[in-house]
Amino acid sequence: MEFAILAESLNKMESTRKRLELTQFLVELFEKTPQDVISKITYLIQGKLRPDFEGIELGVAEKLAIRAISKSSGIPIKKIEDEYRKSGDLGHASSVILEQKTQTTFLMEDITVERVYDTLFKIAKLGGNRSQDMKMKYISSLLNDATPLEASYILKILLGTLRLGIAENTVMDALAIAFSGNKENRKKLQHAYNVSSDLGKVAETIATKGLEGIEKFEIVLFNPIRPMLADRVKSESEAIEKMGNEFAAEYKLDGERVQLHIEGDKVELFSRSLERIERYYPDIIEKIPKNIQADNIILEAEAVAINENTGEFLPFQELMHRRRKYKIEKAVTEYPITVNFFDILYCNGKSCVELSYKERRETLEKHVKEDEFAKYIPMKIVRNENEIEDFMENSINAGSEGLMLKMLDKPYQAGSRGSHWLKLKREYRNELGDSLDLVVIGGFFGKGRRTGNYGTLLLATYDEDEDTFPSICKVGTGFSDESLDQLYQILQPKVSIKKNPRIISDMEADVWFEPELVIEVVASEITLSPIHKAAFNAIRKGAGLALRFPKFTGKIRVEKAVEDASTNEEVITLYKGQKKIAHDKNLM
Ligand code: ATP
Repeated sequence: MEFAILAESLNKMESTRKRLELTQFLVELFEKTPQDVISKITYLIQGKLRPDFEGIELGVAEKLAIRAISKSSGIPIKKIEDEYRKSGDLGHASSVILEQKTQTTFLMEDITVERVYDTLFKIAKLGGNRSQDMKMKYISSLLNDATPLEASYILKILLGTLRLGIAENTVMDALAIAFSGNKENRKKLQHAYNVSSDLGKVAETIATKGLEGIEKFEIVLFNPIRPMLADRVKSESEAIEKMGNEFAAEYKLDGERVQLHIEGDKVELFSRSLERIERYYPDIIEKIPKNIQADNIILEAEAVAINENTGEFLPFQELMHRRRKYKIEKAVTEYPITVNFFDILYCNGKSCVELSYKERRETLEKHVKEDEFAKYIPMKIVRNENEIEDFMENSINAGSEGLMLKMLDKPYQAGSRGSHWLKLKREYRNELGDSLDLVVIGGFFGKGRRTGNYGTLLLATYDEDEDTFPSICKVGTGFSDESLDQLYQILQPKVSIKKNPRIISDMEADVWFEPELVIEVVASEITLSPIHKAAFNAIRKGAGLALRFPKFTGKIRVEKAVEDASTNEEVITLYKGQKKIAHDKNLM
């Protein structure tokens, strides 16, 4: 397939933010794509080469790309840098530069999607610094044969700056329309995606085997399953109302969710956002296989930092000390954990997700042995408010956050947040009733003690309909010196010259960040706001919603994807909830 077709399509997609238009462009692209390249196209439009969980990163530095452009065009580096400075986008700059190309090549080879993909793959596999020369050779060989438009998109993919903001749902809509003629079939594709986390594989299956192939889609060991999530409730009585008169209550431990795929001694671990995290947990890799009594298995657990002397659970922040690049071994001894299993998704070659909660818990206890390191999450079947209250107290005393409540007869719903699982947290009983996970979109430099650091951050919710990040508040309290430094380290590489088009804010931040990091905040209230854009027009025309007295809780949620941040819908629900409480109080 000619790469020009993809480049033109990307060019059109880049010019719109309207979801319907994007979908239409995608449908047209998929219809022009031969079956054997469909998975490659699906990854490339998202700026990837493989699904995220494989962790394949291109990681080409700008400097190297500039050298490659210079080499293939004969244009001096300085001139390229000047052009780059003008637009802040090297892909765009390269297309301008290449229009003025002085060096002509005699044997122009056609650029195909396959060639670009294979070359990018080779570059990604090279890794490390020593391979710079090889990388440059590969890049300039592509640029030699590329038109300016093609070159601009090759570079954007290479540098990781292709940000079309295409949500996975939009890709699935387009696949359903292109290959089944009906957008409604998205739900079937969604299921396949939920159990494989691999959109390329889903695309290839619908293109080659149609809906029938999609319906037969099966869980595969070492392909992560998208996690089931819980709705929130504020009180025991609300839980009973929603769950009926008998259900399971489990401790809601404050650690990191880990999905374990195990066969013999081979263990792979995936985070909540399905990144590979073996490097932080060498102890799990070493110890857990001997607890498993099955040929192969997929399990879910919460890894929690503990006080080794008392056995008490410690907060999430303790565990996060393990998220470091070097001296992991030291962190492993300094911050010991236990692994607390709460679900089983696959066992001895068969899926378990269709089994009821009760059957899954029994299967879990049959195939996993407990010891000092591996535990089943504490669970109790509860029938009334008193029993929930009692178990909640035990859970809080043990150092956990609250309870997860789970219906006994329901299957595991991969990739969805629903009412079959509910969470009841301790802090739900106070003011706003909940913490929010918000996306860091901008920063303001600090004064005094905070000079040279970001003293205040601009935060956003996630707007699911528009696939954007509208601002909701500035937060400048709750930061310790340590957390400020840590945030600076994480945010510094995310500074972008131009505000990402998915950020919706009229504020003038000192710096804009690529929306990639989620942090947790609490607040005293949600109010209508003329300046913030979250849930704009939803409650009152011309007003958004904002947080009053927001405070950082200390939790940097590195394990959360920005699309998992609190949504506009959630904020609207919280806003209406507080109005209702105020109304009820007035009646009392
Ligand atoms: P939160 O912000 O409250 O941690 P979340 O958005 O990460 O929530 P939820 O589905 O709302 O995800 O809450 C479930 C999370 O709680 C899981 O991702 C997991 O990390 C953690 N957890 C702790 N104990 C349990 C348990 N017993 N069962 C399921 N998840 C648990």
